[in-house]
Amino acid sequence: MRRLAFLLALSSSTALAATDPTTGATQLERAWQEKTRALFKEVIEIPSVVNRQEVPKVAEAIAAKLRSAGFPANDVRIIPYEGLPGDKTAALYFRWRAERPAKKPMLIIGHLDVVEAKPEDWQHDPFQLREEGRYFYGRGAWDMKSGIVATVMAVSKLRQEGFRPDRDIILFFNGDEETMQNGALLGTTRWRNLLDAEFGLNPDGGHGYYDRNGRLLGFGLGAAEKVYQTYFFTTRNPGGHSGRPRADNAIYELADALKKVQAFSFEPQLNPTTRAYFAERQREESGALGDAMRRWLANEKDREAADLIEASPTEIGLTRTRCVATMLKAGHADNALPQSATATVNCRMMPGTNPPDVQAALQSLVGSNVEVAPDPSFTGRPTPVLPIRKDVAKAYTEAVRKIHGSQARITPKMDTGTSDSSFFRAIGVPVYDVDGVWGITPDDEREHGLDERVPVKALYDDVVHWEMMIRNLAGKR
Ligand SMILES: [Zn+2]
Repeated sequence: MRRLAFLLALSSSTALAATDPTTGATQLERAWQEKTRALFKEVIEIPSVVNRQEVPKVAEAIAAKLRSAGFPANDVRIIPYEGLPGDKTAALYFRWRAERPAKKPMLIIGHLDVVEAKPEDWQHDPFQLREEGRYFYGRGAWDMKSGIVATVMAVSKLRQEGFRPDRDIILFFNGDEETMQNGALLGTTRWRNLLDAEFGLNPDGGHGYYDRNGRLLGFGLGAAEKVYQTYFFTTRNPGGHSGRPRADNAIYELADALKKVQAFSFEPQLNPTTRAYFAERQREESGALGDAMRRWLANEKDREAADLIEASPTEIGLTRTRCVATMLKAGHADNALPQSATATVNCRMMPGTNPPDVQAALQSLVGSNVEVAPDPSFTGRPTPVLPIRKDVAKAYTEAVRKIHGSQARITPKMDTGTSDSSFFRAIGVPVYDVDGVWGITPDDEREHGLDERVPVKALYDDVVHWEMMIRNLAGKR
């Protein structure tokens, strides 16, 4: 029995080793692996969470790294600013000047802050880098200290190798993407002259995924994102004593309104990014989901096909504008009739949608007894769907295929969340999400969640990826 168990264990681990992408060798030289790991450890262990006032320390660590790589101190700047009121944060600004620029600058954006993580909820301290089972664990391992470290290591390595860019390369990492996005706002307004670029790249998106059998599902090229807007639904009532319930009731009326939101769905719509995405996706889907994708691509008005796609856990949010109730607040005492009830409804609109149109649709859905008002603290910006730049798509494809082989597929992607890219897209600087980090879906989708991690090999691959991207887009190879 003992021997049999041993053999079984051996055969299953051999099978795993044959297909597990975390086991392969990276193309990054050992000395650079060590330097990358050291910087990753340093920045993961600074808890750059909102209101802890630690983001400037991450900016300082990155600045020190760039100076020690030999870049002039004048070209590395830390710009302090305020995110949420009282949150003293900072942006890192670095410009690698071309000796004789032949083209307009290229911008690489990112963020130095991370989402809060509670040590008692994690298996290990989220602010200690831990290497275990071919993974690095720590808050920000995926979102997005990996991308920050990979781009910084890539420019450092390129400089050491004597690479001369033929255009300025600007790094701009802000310090409050996870909360206020004030850094992105300032970057596109007050600091815009510092960041003027022909196009930009964002390591906060893109990414590749393998399935559990070690099959590469492909890499996404982010070229669009949904528009974020929250609405407050409020009902009001004179209230009174709960011993004498009136016929009308603020809570019941709000509940009725929310049931209408639940039952309602917006018209499905395709845009150039999602059309390209589904055209690629349908090739690997043979069942009912694949049939629905093919039917919908043939006829955008085919709501039944779009509904079937939308119901798939991997495709939620991609076929239309979605609005969902996320919070409730109502009443003031357990023995009083509610005088008001308010629900928070968060909408993610298709790019190009005008938020007031969605507000009008929601208002007519729930009727005039319910007040529908946008959250005044954050106004969604309609953002364009970018045409895919040929040079960016080519550089991304070549970098991905150098690491993952010539069969690796690149698919345009619309993000259902939000990122800083939208700020730049809105002012006419096309920013593409093109990071080279990869994971095993859905096991590694832990950004903002518990025990966030990144495969060790994926971090090192990402340095090689960004080195390729920069060589391709900012120089003669
Ligand atoms: Zn992020």
